Amino acid sequence: MKHRSLLLSLLSLVVAPALLAQGPGKQSSFAGKRVLFIGIDGCRADAVTAAMARGMAPQMKGLSEGENGLISLKCYAGGEIGTPTYQPTVSGPGWTSLLTGVWINQHGVKDNRFIGGRLQAYAHFMRRIKETQPKSFCASFADWPPIHDYIADGSRVGDKEFLDVKFTAVPDAKRHFIDNPEKDIEVRDAALKTLREQNPDALFVYFGSVDEFGHGAIDERGSFSPENVIYLNAISHVDSHIGELIRAMRARPQFAEEDWLVFITTDHGGRGNAHGGDSDMERNIWLIANGTHLPRERLLHAPVPQTALVPMIYKHLGISQKPEWTPEPPKPPPAAEPTKQ
Ligand SMILES: [Zn+2]
Repeated sequence: MKHRSLLLSLLSLVVAPALLAQGPGKQSSFAGKRVLFIGIDGCRADAVTAAMARGMAPQMKGLSEGENGLISLKCYAGGEIGTPTYQPTVSGPGWTSLLTGVWINQHGVKDNRFIGGRLQAYAHFMRRIKETQPKSFCASFADWPPIHDYIADGSRVGDKEFLDVKFTAVPDAKRHFIDNPEKDIEVRDAALKTLREQNPDALFVYFGSVDEFGHGAIDERGSFSPENVIYLNAISHVDSHIGELIRAMRARPQFAEEDWLVFITTDHGGRGNAHGGDSDMERNIWLIANGTHLPRERLLHAPVPQTALVPMIYKHLGISQKPEWTPEPPKPPPAAEPTKQ
């Protein structure tokens, strides 16, 4: 009897979230098309491929294979060298490009202070989703607060919130972010809850610990390198979080009717235990994509700027981009005319 009631309560634990998520399947704002966008900060391309080759990132490896999956190693951060799009390989400009689909010449974010950012004009893609379909459900989870404080809130018009869920796990700066792996778990769990219990059209899930291991903030032997087992272990740990997210996505009651596009990428690589420059180690990034209508040829054989993700998300959801979403960048003010006498 005792065992039976235990079994029943265990069953109810398993079943209850599934019942809550009796999702409308295709009856969503975008006819069942949905997006899961996962960001791993500071995850160097040759390190993620080394982790996959050594069996340390089986979830990402699985998503990058098969007829629905791929990994692009021609993806790049940092804009075009020698042009106004050139931007440092740091998180502020990088995540802004990934979440708005434009480079620094338009978004204006030069560093992690976000001074001069033009997020109102070049908005977070979820604001555009919400403008297109006000009843859509957009959710964002991050443990680097500027993702929400500057990129999302900077894109908000007045007090009109476009994120239905905005979960920020704030690392303790006094502890030099050594609690970052714990914060990644909080991010994972909040995203799992939304995947199980809500009907999201788009989720962005950001994990910050890999970058902190690269910098040596969490373990002093840090470096952004495939030779660094500590760094690869950090990637492996985040890979297991990704596995849980994917399992929850696939366990949705009407998953068979839903059409998910999954993107996993990073904002920059690293060199030694830093980043920000224009070396290949910092600029070369990667994109894992999984979905049924991927532009495979383009993603596998042509360079993929990190600004290309947002347009692909719009295309997947069937959203037509409006010209006013990417206005021409502001011109420097003209030289003052001489005063007429
Ligand atoms: Zn960093």
